[in-house]
Amino acid sequence: MIPLKDTFWQTESWQQQMSGMIRDPEQLLQRLRLNPEEHPDIAAAMQQFPLRVPEAFVAKMKIGDWHDPLLMQVLPLAKETQEQVGYVNDPLEEIDANPVPGLIHKYHGRVLLIANPSCAVHCRYCFRRNFPYDSNNPSQRDWQKTLDYIADRPDISEVILSGGDPLSAPDEYLQKLINKIALIPHVTTLRIHTRLPLVLPARITPALIRVLSENRLRIVMVIHCNHANEIDSHTEVALNTLHKAGFMLLNQSVLLKEINDSADTLVKLSQRLFEVNVMPYYLHLLDKVRGAAHFDVNEVEAQALMNAILARLPGYLVPRLVVEEPSASSKRPLALS
Ligand code: SF4
Repeated sequence: MIPLKDTFWQTESWQQQMSGMIRDPEQLLQRLRLNPEEHPDIAAAMQQFPLRVPEAFVAKMKIGDWHDPLLMQVLPLAKETQEQVGYVNDPLEEIDANPVPGLIHKYHGRVLLIANPSCAVHCRYCFRRNFPYDSNNPSQRDWQKTLDYIADRPDISEVILSGGDPLSAPDEYLQKLINKIALIPHVTTLRIHTRLPLVLPARITPALIRVLSENRLRIVMVIHCNHANEIDSHTEVALNTLHKAGFMLLNQSVLLKEINDSADTLVKLSQRLFEVNVMPYYLHLLDKVRGAAHFDVNEVEAQALMNAILARLPGYLVPRLVVEEPSASSKRPLALS
């Protein structure tokens, strides 16, 4: 049995932590002193989207609490396998905006690269949980098609590295890719969407900072934090390191039923983000991906929550409530009453 207070992961490299992440629900539940018999049908949900969670994230969960907001983000549950009307494999129809393998071009002026298909954590609400990474995983040889696509379109000024999680890739891979992007003169900004500072803060190493700094691009990093409990002292150190390196740090969250759908939780999240130099940016309504219906908070409830937090926070700590829709030219901000 793994000791509850085991802190072995704190001395491991990020690569060791990544390869040793928990993939077995019984191991996870044992760590948290929860009885697997209370949720006997985890296996069916695992087949659709396996469990993956690093020790550094498990260490922030409360022992003995099935309703821990971090555990609920990663634990496969049988209700994911129930079909729900309107919930589909590709809710944002990204496949239709996929002109070159590994590249998604939906919005004016920016493109998204699937820089790396794997993640350090599997979030049960992920809108790409069914994404066909196998056919959208360009090898380094295929990069040229992607880079040519960007080079041929002078209106593209921002490249967004997404995934999977781009920071799950090795430094050498990132360095080569970023250096090639930096050679395209009209690209000025590199945006990186990642959950690594939250789920595997050891990933923020001096070597990574060098990779991100030694180019001419302006770096924007968007972390995906849904609850203040995700920011412990290890994550705080990682975020401070990124801040001191001069990168702009933003956060986007997904509004998730029973995880962060209360005004108190959202207020605490914004305040905690500000303490660690991250500005709240977007609060997304759930993308209606198959398997995630139980996380949905509807528009009316979301707008009421936003009104409540507007009354309690300075405007600069209030994220924009948005919904993403296929074929729209931008995310749609939801008007408040
Ligand atoms: S792409 Fe992001 S949201 Fe989806 S599983 Fe990976 S880390 Fe989680």
